[in-house]
Amino acid sequence: MTSKIIQVLGAARLSKDADESTSIERQSGGINGWADLRSNTTGDDYRVVHVSEDSDVSGAVSPFDPAGLGPYLREPLLSTWQVLVVFRLDRLTRSIADFEAIWKSLRKVSRRHEILAQNATRTGPNVNRGPLLHVAHCANCNTPLNLTNASWNGKQYRYYRCPNERLKRGCDAKRIPADELESRVESMMLEIYGTWSLTEVMEIAGIDYSTQMHELAEAIGDGCGSSGVMACEEF
Ligand SMILES: [Zn+2]
Repeated sequence: MTSKIIQVLGAARLSKDADESTSIERQSGGINGWADLRSNTTGDDYRVVHVSEDSDVSGAVSPFDPAGLGPYLREPLLSTWQVLVVFRLDRLTRSIADFEAIWKSLRKVSRRHEILAQNATRTGPNVNRGPLLHVAHCANCNTPLNLTNASWNGKQYRYYRCPNERLKRGCDAKRIPADELESRVESMMLEIYGTWSLTEVMEIAGIDYSTQMHELAEAIGDGCGSSGVMACEEF
């Protein structure tokens, strides 16, 4: 059975109206006890890497602000833990709005970790990436264009190409140099959205087909000349 190491961040807070039941020591003890219990019941290794301590901080203060916990909710310290544990929820915050803010922010981080983990096995450089796959369609037959590779005088060229033309299925559209099509689409996008300011950074899980595309391109080979004429005027 493989056991994972899970880094636990404890957050302890002592309010002005503190009594023995919520002392920092008691909260730390509870957090360590939780980690031990989780380790024993799951077989994973829950390690308390740090317990942040904020004394005399009112529960009305945003959890992002206190000197003890605040820095652990931002990089670089944000990357040092995976699980946040508090003795009681009101040791984190008493404000629903702050709780929602912290929840959302941690959800975002955890989503980012998921994406990074999913992409951890990606292989090779992105030499054959095709941002317009499934976006660019053939102007003649409306089929999504494939991305193909061709060598010419020792240089590699990428082309978007209609599969119906390639397989001689009644389309005579010429292949389009990928750089040309991509930069043209980029210009069009900039013309439309170029004046918009950045509103939110979104990370989207992507699937990298570069290896398969490369193998496919090699299997197909280069059956055409080196014409770089664009056949599809509109896309
Ligand atoms: Zn076509």
